[in-house]
Amino acid sequence: MIPSLPGLPVWRRPASMPTFGFIEGQVDLLVIGAGYQGLSAAYHAARQGLKVQVIEARGLGDGASGVNGGQVIPGLKHDPETLRQLLGEEAGQRLVDFSAGTADAVFDLIHSEGLDVEHQRNGWILAAHTQTAVQAAVQRNRQWRKRGADVMMLNAAEVAFLTGARGYCGGWLDRRAGMVNPLALVFALAHLATLSGAGLLLNEAVTSLHQRGSLWAASTDRGRTLLARKVLVATNAFSGTLVNGLAESLVWLHSFQIATAPLPSSLLDQVLPGGQPVSDSRRILVYYRRSPDGRLVVGGRGPMREPRSAEDWAHLERAMLRLFPALRDVPVTHRWFGRVAMTPDYLPHVHEPAPGLFMVAGCQGRGIGLMTALGPSLAAYAASGDARVLPLPVTPLRPIPFHRFRCIGVAAHVAWYRLLDSLER
Ligand SMILES: Cc1cc2nc3c(=O)[nH]c(=O)nc-3n(C[C@H](O)[C@H](O)[C@H](O)COP(=O)(O)OP(=O)(O)OC[C@H]3O[C@@H](n4cnc5c(N)ncnc54)[C@H](O)[C@@H]3O)c2cc1C
Repeated sequence: MIPSLPGLPVWRRPASMPTFGFIEGQVDLLVIGAGYQGLSAAYHAARQGLKVQVIEARGLGDGASGVNGGQVIPGLKHDPETLRQLLGEEAGQRLVDFSAGTADAVFDLIHSEGLDVEHQRNGWILAAHTQTAVQAAVQRNRQWRKRGADVMMLNAAEVAFLTGARGYCGGWLDRRAGMVNPLALVFALAHLATLSGAGLLLNEAVTSLHQRGSLWAASTDRGRTLLARKVLVATNAFSGTLVNGLAESLVWLHSFQIATAPLPSSLLDQVLPGGQPVSDSRRILVYYRRSPDGRLVVGGRGPMREPRSAEDWAHLERAMLRLFPALRDVPVTHRWFGRVAMTPDYLPHVHEPAPGLFMVAGCQGRGIGLMTALGPSLAAYAASGDARVLPLPVTPLRPIPFHRFRCIGVAAHVAWYRLLDSLER
């Protein structure tokens, strides 16, 4: 089942809609889901000459891609050395090389195609709330600098100077990173895909997938049936029952966000004067940035259930005032939330449970660069079937044991982590 729409995010919604369309007959690639993953793959596949149809159950940008925080951060949750330990030297190195360039993929595309996407590329700050977190950042810094990445450690005074936020012991600046209007990026990718020849249907859910000889037959809730040589199930945190075991291999969480009214000029010098987006090092992290129209946007974990009232965002308002007490009188004008897909090992996974039916799942809240950058290899895989074009190994779907009870487990974890975070303050 597709969950209800989140509250409206603060991001500017582009006025021009891409052309919609249905490609009659058989296609080379059916893409289910029009977020960054589906649209980037569709664009690159259509550009290579494949016949591509995208089908999206809701409106454009109504998945995670249109509501997120817009922080474009390269790398994955794990540092390079950990990736090599987890995947082995060769596969680990391939993933490190790929993940180093995911922010480049987004900004290069915006520039090369002249996309109408507000963006800024002046780095991202990981703000450390304890000395232990500073030490972890030192390790990360060492590993990325060894690879020649444009990153540097910040001391407590430098973090305070760049962010204006209170309470950090130090931090790490990754200059490869930046920010985008996440919703505008979805629209821009949809435009690129349709201009390259892909068909795009919105507000139509794929309800079943069946093998018919060497092809896949997809049926929709509007009574359409489509035949495809390959199917990319780009549904990520919104995966339902289309593919056995996919939803059960993920834990989805809610990420909540608030935005203030545009800040008065007297406060612009005190709140993120350096202009970089920030994530802090807490177990239950808070992330924040300025929007193009000068608001402070703050995000973090929320309840597992859907919100009932503004009270469900109150923890973010408390976090904001702890960091920026000067915002006491600035009203919060927007509150919204979305779904993030997590995997038990904090890695994204590529699966192909049956020939020609493939998917990438699990971004751990860092999917803008990752999913946009995966587009070319997913398209190349759809065209060639050669798994060596993928930066990740194709692995079997592994449903999480006792998945039905995930809400209770996650809620208990979050409560425990919040307690630890508050003790360390
Ligand atoms: C609040 C929030 C803040 C975040 N902040 C950041 C951030 O700052 N930086 C960052 O890098 N990442 C962030 N993320 C993560 C990022 O948004 C995601 O990793 C990324 O958008 C995933 O893209 P996707 O295309 O895989 O999935 P989605 O964009 O979720 O697309 C999946 C689509 O599949 C559709 N679908 C599902 N089932 C069907 C069906 N049966 N038929 C047709 N369509 C179907 C859904 O409607 C949905 O639109 C955040 C996420 C959230 C929710």
